[in-house]
Amino acid sequence: MVESSPIALIQIDVQGKVVFVNSYVETLFCYNKGELLGQNILLLLPERFHSKLSLFLQTFQNNVEKLEEKSKIALFAVTKNGEEFPVEVILSPLVYNNNSLVLATFINITERGKANEQFRLVVESAPNAIILVDSLGEIVMINKQAETLFGYHRKELIGQKMEILVPTRIKDHHPKLRRSFYTNAKARPMGAGRDLFGLKKDGNEVPIEIGLNPLEKDGETFVLASIIDITERKKSEDAIRLYNKRLEDKNKELEQFTYIASHDLREPLNSINSLIELFIENEGHKLGAEGLKQLEFITKSSTRMKELVKGLLDYARLGKKSEFKPIDFNEVVELAINDLEISVKDSEARFSIEKLPVLEAMEMEIRLLFQNLISNAIKYQAADHAPEINISAKKVKGGWNFAVSDNGIGIPADQKEKIFIIFQRLHGRNEYDGIGIGLSHCRKIVELHDGKIWVDSELNNGSTFYFFIPVNR
Ligand code: ADP
Repeated sequence: MVESSPIALIQIDVQGKVVFVNSYVETLFCYNKGELLGQNILLLLPERFHSKLSLFLQTFQNNVEKLEEKSKIALFAVTKNGEEFPVEVILSPLVYNNNSLVLATFINITERGKANEQFRLVVESAPNAIILVDSLGEIVMINKQAETLFGYHRKELIGQKMEILVPTRIKDHHPKLRRSFYTNAKARPMGAGRDLFGLKKDGNEVPIEIGLNPLEKDGETFVLASIIDITERKKSEDAIRLYNKRLEDKNKELEQFTYIASHDLREPLNSINSLIELFIENEGHKLGAEGLKQLEFITKSSTRMKELVKGLLDYARLGKKSEFKPIDFNEVVELAINDLEISVKDSEARFSIEKLPVLEAMEMEIRLLFQNLISNAIKYQAADHAPEINISAKKVKGGWNFAVSDNGIGIPADQKEKIFIIFQRLHGRNEYDGIGIGLSHCRKIVELHDGKIWVDSELNNGSTFYFFIPVNR
């Protein structure tokens, strides 16, 4: 067995003299057995390891108890041709027939070394900082990026506890965390943790994201930590948060302004209208036809202004008191059509309504949305036409697309965006009555549902208003 073993086995005495070699020694070192027997084993080791071997043998002679059962004494061996190669040399003392001998085992680890070198190259060329930590929490390997990130030279880190890179305030707690990770070691992806910080050599902290991967090697668990500096990302996240907050504040301010302005404007407008009515009643007979006509203009203007102000107030109020709950869109459409009973009757509008879904939404707002779209479909119609209105819904990725289509006058291609802007109209009031706020209500309602609204239309050939409502807001 010893002869055919693929491991070089050499027996030496306490002086280091070779007393036995197996066949594999010949293969590994290119010596004949005869050339080695009686020689000192130092022949097979590079000079830098000689003192370590001598120390071992001395301890073996003088104080056997002090010897560890097995000792690793060299990392390289040398062949007859003077070539060094990586080995693991293990010395085991053995006492046989009162003779103290040592068994030296040479395991060729050239292949292992190659694999290690390849691993080192991969780690070195990784785009982010990488640190390899052994089961005791000591740093075994780091790459260039880790040196840059933490401001240390690798010589200063290798062999150190990894807590050297952990901020002081969590240093005491960290070994516990580390041990618990090792007891149940499984990969932890980047970003799957809290906000983490690393401690740099200069004492500054750096926000980082860490991914951890356990590695089994020779029965020992190592952890490969992959680290990225997220300073820049944090900065932009903070900036975005700040801008969002400012935007939210400004929006609130604006909404409040719209609400207060439109609310407070209603009172004086009501007074103007009532005063004019009173004035006509009491003083009307003193005015000529021209005077009465002018008063009529004033009344019309202030009534229109009241409508505008009401539209604005309604706009500001949209979504304020509503909450999301499952609503049956079939029922809501029916209610919206009922609300428009008179104009539906007068216009002789015909409806075809497909089956609509039940979705989480704001009931009153959705009802208003359909009211606006249907009343427009009835209103923007050529005089000799009866409106034909189709309402349908289609399941799409992430939600539902609703469609309200008509056979009306259509919308010019270059006006399709403009009509959703508040108070924007494409016609004079003499042609079609209205104040130009219905579609901005629609847009706000759809946006309250995190959806969007758009129109598809051809002039003189009808329009289809689409809106998308997501299922998971
Ligand atoms: P209003 O109807 O009070 O004018 P809207 O905001 O509802 O206000 O509509 C804005 C404009 O969009 C309308 O003035 C009209 O020109 C156009 N529009 C809206 N719906 C339709 C439609 N179904 N067909 C043609 N044009 C439409």
